[in-house]
Amino acid sequence: MSEAKAYAAQSASSPLAPSKITRREPGARDVRIDISHCGICHSDLHSVRSEWGASVYPFVPGHEIIGRVSAVGREVHKFKLGDIAGVGCLVNSCHSCGPCRDGLEQHCEKGPIFTYGSTDVDGTPTYGGYSSHIVVNEDFVLQIPAGMSLERTAPLLCAGITTYSPLKRFGARKGTRVGVLGLGGLGHMAVKIAAAMGAEVTVLSGSRAKEPDAKRLGAGDFVLSSDPAKTARLAGRLDLIIDTVSAPHDLSIPLACLRLGGTLVLVGASPQPLSVPAFGLIPGRRQIAGSLIGGIKETQEMLDFCAKRHVLADTEVIAIQNVNAAYKRLLKGDVRYRFTIDMSTL
Ligand code: NAP
Ligand code: ZN
Repeated sequence: MSEAKAYAAQSASSPLAPSKITRREPGARDVRIDISHCGICHSDLHSVRSEWGASVYPFVPGHEIIGRVSAVGREVHKFKLGDIAGVGCLVNSCHSCGPCRDGLEQHCEKGPIFTYGSTDVDGTPTYGGYSSHIVVNEDFVLQIPAGMSLERTAPLLCAGITTYSPLKRFGARKGTRVGVLGLGGLGHMAVKIAAAMGAEVTVLSGSRAKEPDAKRLGAGDFVLSSDPAKTARLAGRLDLIIDTVSAPHDLSIPLACLRLGGTLVLVGASPQPLSVPAFGLIPGRRQIAGSLIGGIKETQEMLDFCAKRHVLADTEVIAIQNVNAAYKRLLKGDVRYRFTIDMSTL
């Protein structure tokens, strides 16, 4: 066992504070990564505060992890000391069920092991990337293409794959009309990735002030999502909408923007249920789908795609000591567009 420095919450209502955790020694197939940067995902906040159900404390969030390999087990083939490596939302799965064999480890039938808030194979709790180092089976460690900015690549490991996966699954390509609802961490990645895939992107945002950014990020159009009079001009127009909103919201507005047979994909994970208007779906034969991050192979594919197309997150780098203030700002939508923690400040 080794001791790691971390920031942990001790309860759903306590702030994140300095803490110590233990990590296992790297096994034969494990890689130890000294963490240099970790993105702040809204899921970290939902989980720390037990918004999706009771979390187990102490709780160390963080699943957009980048760092340098500092130890490898004797059977590790993909990594060597000093390599830059990434870890997203998954650290293990059963490797043998149908979804795992299909590269959908996030849907492992025995239960995926998430980077935080799960129970690891040895029965210990998993702790996330707001920490000095992490030990992960090499099958769940991502190769970071050479030359990518570490702080701007970290958010790809959740925000990037969570938007890349449904864009690909629902066929975003040249000419596809893609709407992105909510311009936060996930939303801004959805805009960049959809634009890189050749789609015509429209941002639907509740924040008028984000319009110039939406255009700069790659959107051709911007509509104030809080105003049905404004969204009316999109009626029946969009092929696909990626809904990244983190709180309850009115689905009738995005649904009305979909063409016949169009799809609204929920990736935003509101803790409270959303109501579905039957007449938002039935007359236009529309559908609502869900999507959960992406498998490991697809995450590597996304990283390679982003490297080739020069797609990176827009980040504000913070010291770990400012993490609680960053959570407050995240809740107010006051981040352009992802906080990344410089873990050397730990
Ligand atoms: P974020 O940076 O906080 O962005 C969320 C955006 O939603 C905000 O910027 C805001 O955009 C909009 N929004 C927030 N509150 C709203 C409200 N009350 N009504 C309408 N719009 C609101 O969060 P994120 O990190 O992108 O995460 C977004 C959601 O995705 C979270 O629920 C997170 O847990 C979830 N998530 C899901 C997966 C998955 O696998 N499915 C993976 C990662 C994250 P505007 O200002 O533009 O309106
Ligand atoms: Zn996330």
